[in-house]
Amino acid sequence: MGEVPRSHPRYNSLIARKLLTDAADDGLLADSALIAHGRGEAYDYLLGEKTSASALLSIKQAAAVMKNANKCVISLNGNAVALAAENLLRCATILQCPVEINIYYRTPERMKALLSRLEKVRQEVMKSKKPDGWLGNWEEDVLAVPILGAEPNGRIQNLDGPRANCCKEGILDADVIFVPLEDGDRCEALMNMGKTVIVVDLNPLSRTAKMASITIVDELMRVGSVLIDELVKSDCKINEKWDNKLVLDAALNEINSNIQN
Ligand code: ATP
Ligand code: MG
Repeated sequence: MGEVPRSHPRYNSLIARKLLTDAADDGLLADSALIAHGRGEAYDYLLGEKTSASALLSIKQAAAVMKNANKCVISLNGNAVALAAENLLRCATILQCPVEINIYYRTPERMKALLSRLEKVRQEVMKSKKPDGWLGNWEEDVLAVPILGAEPNGRIQNLDGPRANCCKEGILDADVIFVPLEDGDRCEALMNMGKTVIVVDLNPLSRTAKMASITIVDELMRVGSVLIDELVKSDCKINEKWDNKLVLDAALNEINSNIQN
């Protein structure tokens, strides 16, 4: 695909596809990654390709919970790195928490490619404008974010195979895990370990969406910048009565009303 014209009505969708096909060429993705994205796109169409009011509530709750965590970690798979590495690294900088590469189909080649992509992104983020409202030394703070995943030294309980591998200083010890595009099985295993699991999933019917502590039913590229804004605010307040089912119902209602209009 050549250049994507800014005026194209499906500009954002085309950009996302380009990011993913380029990432696939660079060896960052498993074969199934593009299929997973396609399923997400279909839901995004039905949701009107915008951040809904209820998704914004989820993002606000996620920001408050992450800021109040004892130990937070941002877990990234190949699609998350391809689509939103810059903004998620900014979130980790604001939180001063580690990011961990944690992929479902783990191969040494893909892990290496993802880790080196993240280090490259780190250099770009260091040079980029710091988020409005950030008072620290941005370059030093970006550099201080631990990038984990190269040497897993722990396992997610009750999960078989390499997909259970993780890092003690990251996923294993964290009480709050932000894991954008998680699989249902792994989400369940993390929940069973007593962790607060925050996911981004366009499908309000998926096992992941239903299982998680907080589900952001929105497209990951859109979520990144909104989450940054919420994290730099000082007045993040946790809603102690959070009912995750309400945001899933709201997303289904949104789809329903879009279909009828
Ligand atoms: P589960 O494992 O939770 O039962 P699944 O097997 O249908 O669900 P996976 O293949 O594990 O889903 O992951 C793909 C899902 O990720 C898609 O259905 C979609 O909802 C979500 N997804 C894909 N791309 C994005 C994106 N860019 N932003 C948000 N969500 C996305
Ligand atoms: Mg799945």
